[in-house]
Amino acid sequence: MCFTFLSGKFVLVQVVAVNRKSAVLKAPAFGCLKGIPAVNVTRNCLHQCVYCYARTFPETPQKEVHLYANLPELLRQELARGKLRARLPKAAAFSTASDAFQPHGAILKTTLKAMELLLKYGVMVSFLTKGRIPKECWSLFAEYQGLVKARFGLVSLDLSYHKLFEPHTASPFLRLRQVEKAARLGLSPQVRVDPVIPGITDSPEAIESLMRHLAGAGVAEVSVSYLVLRPGLARQMPKRLPPDIWRPIHLAFKGEPYTNCITSARTRLARLEIRKKGYKLFREIGKAYGITVRVCGCKNPDLPFEYCVPWEVTSRPAQEVLKQGDLFGRSV
Ligand code: SF4
Repeated sequence: MCFTFLSGKFVLVQVVAVNRKSAVLKAPAFGCLKGIPAVNVTRNCLHQCVYCYARTFPETPQKEVHLYANLPELLRQELARGKLRARLPKAAAFSTASDAFQPHGAILKTTLKAMELLLKYGVMVSFLTKGRIPKECWSLFAEYQGLVKARFGLVSLDLSYHKLFEPHTASPFLRLRQVEKAARLGLSPQVRVDPVIPGITDSPEAIESLMRHLAGAGVAEVSVSYLVLRPGLARQMPKRLPPDIWRPIHLAFKGEPYTNCITSARTRLARLEIRKKGYKLFREIGKAYGITVRVCGCKNPDLPFEYCVPWEVTSRPAQEVLKQGDLFGRSV
């Protein structure tokens, strides 16, 4: 459970178990996720980030987080069928509209089971998290090191930013320690600096501090994108942020035309000169610390496209693993 700010007051958000009706391994047909099934363990997310666009979807419950309790069973059936037909996906991505590592026992258990199944079938698992990863998941990642792509969301090390913008996520310093741990395990962790908040997290000092800590944690690659303002977010953020914080953010988008961005045709991007200046700083400072910086192509359709996700993976594809049969000595 956690609290969220709704209609001018804090309300309790509860986790409710529901049965998922549709298939799990469906690949979204957009952006970098094309061809890669996205697995969401829940609908809505306990982390309650102020800038979360997934929470503004009309179908997202406002006072509840729905946990797909039958997800492991559905996955077990789909993977068995996929293996029979030699049609397993090469990778699955956790998650696009929720975090796989929310602070709740049943959610974490479901995530562990789902990831374990995929890995046992030789399907690469990629995750992007701002949460605390439990030790059982770390043991799993160590066992399947070559099949796990670990990505961590980290925008700022500033604790007041954390409290205001990402109130229920793991602290930025815990996330840094997890990045270090992933690097020690050989998972080649990537960090996603998204959303950069104009005027709040993009000062040269803030970027320098972030990149220095990331380099110290063993990060070699970072993907970065500024906040994109979908209509739902433009309504949600001013309700959750104090006016003196929201006003300058809003000014970075004011008067900008609606742009077709990922699945929304009514998204506003931050002014081009703000983004260009910020990305240049990220690249220069990143280079000084030996970090490659990629600008997310999907969220910056007016800039030269850069690919920033790990699907062009270097490890063996699932089919190759399956042929060798080296993962099927265990029961699935
Ligand atoms: S962790 Fe991700 S999915 Fe969860 S609230 Fe934050 S932005 Fe949304």
